[in-house]
Amino acid sequence: MASLTEYKKKRKFDKTPEPGPTKKHTRTRRLYVIQKHRATALHYDFRLEVDGVLKSWAVPKGPSLDPKVKRLAMQVEDHPVDYAKFEGVIPEGEYGGGTVMVWDYGTYKPEETDDVEASLRKGELKFTLDGEKLKGSWVLVRTRGGRQWLLIKHRDYYTTEEDVTELAPVSILTRRSLAEIAEDEGGDIKKAATGDPKKIPRRTGVKRRKKGAKAKVWHSNRAS
Ligand code: MN
Repeated sequence: MASLTEYKKKRKFDKTPEPGPTKKHTRTRRLYVIQKHRATALHYDFRLEVDGVLKSWAVPKGPSLDPKVKRLAMQVEDHPVDYAKFEGVIPEGEYGGGTVMVWDYGTYKPEETDDVEASLRKGELKFTLDGEKLKGSWVLVRTRGGRQWLLIKHRDYYTTEEDVTELAPVSILTRRSLAEIAEDEGGDIKKAATGDPKKIPRRTGVKRRKKGAKAKVWHSNRAS
């Protein structure tokens, strides 16, 4: 059963701004979120709401929209649903110390099943994402008995070889880079900027994109 015991055990809630371990669910019960997290190393925390908690995987390289690319996804402890909108700084020395960004946000639909827990127990879950940056069909497959999974894009309308982490590096909620979040929330700006795919200029109210690149390219159809 979904449990937040491990989440609670790892954190001191008088030290971290992260939300407490309350179990609840969203209206759709199918929330999807990716949080970009500069802790010891930069990674992308991929989360799906299942039975009142967020099932979570740390994806070191982030998602790829190329079906040929299999991304390692290490399963980590379940997180509270409230965690999905957490963007800010976890103090250094605390568990996961560093800067957290809400990189993508939306909902998902399981494919070929209504019992997501059962699919996860079996080690394979197919699902359709409806986020702002990521859409279309995906699969999570467990590779061995343990916490190691692969996150793979299925070939469809949203397939592309372009790197969505490079094209869309900033927060979906606030359009801030990791460095800007660190600056606003009293974190380590230099550390937050290290390893971030792009250096973002000071916020201008305009979405930054690479010279010559089309806007919203991650929504458009590419060589599929
Ligand atoms: Mn993390």
